[in-house]
Amino acid sequence: MSLLSVRDLEVGFDAPAGEVRAVRSVSFDLAPGERVALVGESGCGKTTTMLAMMGLLPAGAVVSGQVLLDGRDILAGGESSMRPHRWTDIAMVFQGAMNALNPVRRVGAQIVEAVRIHGGSRRDGRSRTRELLELVGLPADFAARYPHELSGGQRQRAVIALALACEPRVLLADEPTTALDVIVQDQIVTLLRELSDTLGLAVVMVTHDLALVPHLCERAAVMYAGSIVETAACADIVQRPAHPYTRRLVDATPDLAGLRPLSSIPGVPPRLDQVLSGCPFQPRCTDAVESCETTAPPLLDLGAGRSCACHLTEVVA
Ligand code: SF4
Repeated sequence: MSLLSVRDLEVGFDAPAGEVRAVRSVSFDLAPGERVALVGESGCGKTTTMLAMMGLLPAGAVVSGQVLLDGRDILAGGESSMRPHRWTDIAMVFQGAMNALNPVRRVGAQIVEAVRIHGGSRRDGRSRTRELLELVGLPADFAARYPHELSGGQRQRAVIALALACEPRVLLADEPTTALDVIVQDQIVTLLRELSDTLGLAVVMVTHDLALVPHLCERAAVMYAGSIVETAACADIVQRPAHPYTRRLVDATPDLAGLRPLSSIPGVPPRLDQVLSGCPFQPRCTDAVESCETTAPPLLDLGAGRSCACHLTEVVA
C-alpha cells in the first residue's frame, strides 16, 4: 500500500479577475522510502501542491481532493486532523533556507523548540539537536550559531535538520538547492539521498531543474498549468520523454557533453484565472493537431509506471 496518496487535488484562490485554479486534478502515490520529483516551470502548481499536502494553504483554498496517509484522508477534518501529522509524519523543507530559519534565534534553539512543541522535553531537544546536526553533516557546536553565521549550504543542512526533528516518514523538499552553487547543490542532493536511504524517508522534491532530478529521485511527475502531464521513471523522463512539453524541458536543460543545442520554450504558460479549453500547452506546442485546440487530453496510463496527457500519445497507445 502507498504511504501517501494525493487524489484528484484541486486548489483555487480568489483573485480580482476571478478564481485562479492553481492545481487541477493532481494525483500521485508515494511508497515508503520512495523519492519522487515534481518538475515544471514557475507557477505550474508544484509548491501549491506541497503546501496543500502540509495543510498550510488558507482555509477554502483546497477545493476538492484527498491527501491519504496510510489510507486515511488527513485533509478531511481540517486543521484538527492535519495537526497530529504535520512535522511528525510529513515535514517540509521550504524554499530559501535563510527565510525558513528565524534570523534572531540560534539554530539549536529552533530545533529544540520544534521537539518541545511535539511533546519532547528541553533535554530531549538538546540531545536531538546534536544528533540531527551530526546527521546532516554539521558540527554539533553549530547549535550555538545564528543563521547568518552559516554559509548557504550549511543553512540548507540546518533547515533539513529542523525538518527531521520529529522523525517524519515523508519529507517534502521545495527547490532545496535554489541559490546554491553546483558543488553545494550536489552535496545537498547527496545528503537527501543518504538520509532517505538511512532513515527509510520518502521524499517529494519540487524543482524546475530537470538535470537535478535523476540524482535524487526514482520517479518524476511533470506539471504544466496546474496539472500533471507526464509521469515516468526519471531515466525515461530524461532519455525518452513522451509529452511534447517534457521534450522541450529536456531540450532546455544544458547538455554538458555539448552534443545537443540548448533551446528555450517559446511563449508563456496560460493564465490560470481563465477557463482553459483544449490542451493548455497547445499555443506553445510545435506538434499540435486540430483537436488540441478544443479537446483537453486525459492523463493516459501507458503501463510500466508511465502516463502522459497528449493526443499524440493517445494515438500511439
Ligand atoms: Fe501538443 Fe496536442 Fe499533445 Fe497538447 S495534446 S501536447 S498541443 S500535441
